[in-house]
Parts: sequence; structure tokens; C-alpha cells
Amino acid sequence: MTAALTPTVRRTVATGDGVISYELTRKRVKNLNLRVERDGSIRVSAPARVSLAHVNAFVAGRADFIRKAQARLRGEQARIETMPDVPEAMCRQRFQEVIDRLLPLLGGYRLPPVTLRLRTMKSRWGSCAWATGAVTLNRRLYFAPPECLEYVALHELCHLVVHDHSPRFHALMASLMPDWKARKARLERWNTGGETPN
Ligand SMILES: [Zn+2]
Repeated sequence: MTAALTPTVRRTVATGDGVISYELTRKRVKNLNLRVERDGSIRVSAPARVSLAHVNAFVAGRADFIRKAQARLRGEQARIETMPDVPEAMCRQRFQEVIDRLLPLLGGYRLPPVTLRLRTMKSRWGSCAWATGAVTLNRRLYFAPPECLEYVALHELCHLVVHDHSPRFHALMASLMPDWKARKARLERWNTGGETPN
């Protein structure tokens, strides 16, 4: 944890492409750091010794990156808001079928009984509570290409065997689903609106 030297302050900088407003926090950090939050707001942390003019120039220099990130987040938000509501039972049936189809791939491992949970999430596709066997899948996957749903489901099921994202985990994924990277990439493309599901 780094302690803030001064409270967070709101700053603005004019760029050729309009005004950018951001929250600046002075921290015991080595470098300037800029983050676009999921709500589109911009946070910058900077070492105490760096002048405001320098911070402003840093932010203005990233105007293009910021605009693109904000546009992508707006697109994602719009997709969530316009997404038709899938009845819980339909979603559960479809996801459970995928899990039931994939589970035999892990037949050689001693696994807890898997229970499926559904959630609508903005920042992750799934999660796995490996101790209890609870696999949570994002309801948004219902609209994703089926191969992407399979990829996420298998990723979470593999966490029942290897809990972290170590080389062992990726070796397991690669052995069970050799094209997992392509499926992951397709999911990213679909999520950012570059592709419509089939
Ligand atoms: Zn994971």
C-alpha cells in the first residue's frame, strides 16, 4: 500500500480533441500512472516531485488512448443495456449442458461436485470457488459464440485442478483445448463489438 501524500484532486487539461478531466493522486510511486476506470473516469497517480504541467502533458499525450478506452467501455455498456433478458432457466440449461459435456475431459482428476452459478458481471466472464466446486459463469456468455462459452467454462473447471494461472494451468488448458487462445481472442473481439455472435 502506498499512502497518499495529498488528497485526490480533480484536474483538467485541454487537448486538440477537447478537455480531459481526471483525478490526480500524489503517491509514493516511481512513475506516472494513468488508468481508465470501468465507468470511463480517469485516474492518474504521480510522484510528489512531478509538476502539474508535466502531469497534464502526460495525460494530454494519452488523449487518443483515453478516447478509445472510453468508447470501448461505452460500447460494452450499451451492449449490456440492450441485451435481451434471457430467462434464468434457459441460461442455466444451456450452461449446464456445456459443463456436463466438458467435465469428462477432467475425468482423471478428483473433483468436488460442480455446482453452476449464474451472474451478470461487467468485468469477468467467470470464477471458480475451487474448495466448494462452485463455478460461476457470466450470463452475458449466453449471447457469445458457443466456442467462447466453452472456453470460459473449461477455464473455470480447470481451476478445480490448478487454482492459479501458473504454467501448469495453461498446460492443462492447452492439453484439453488446444485452440483456447483463439477462442479467448474471439471472445474479446465479440465483447468489444467487433463481431456479432452467430
Ligand atoms: Zn482463471
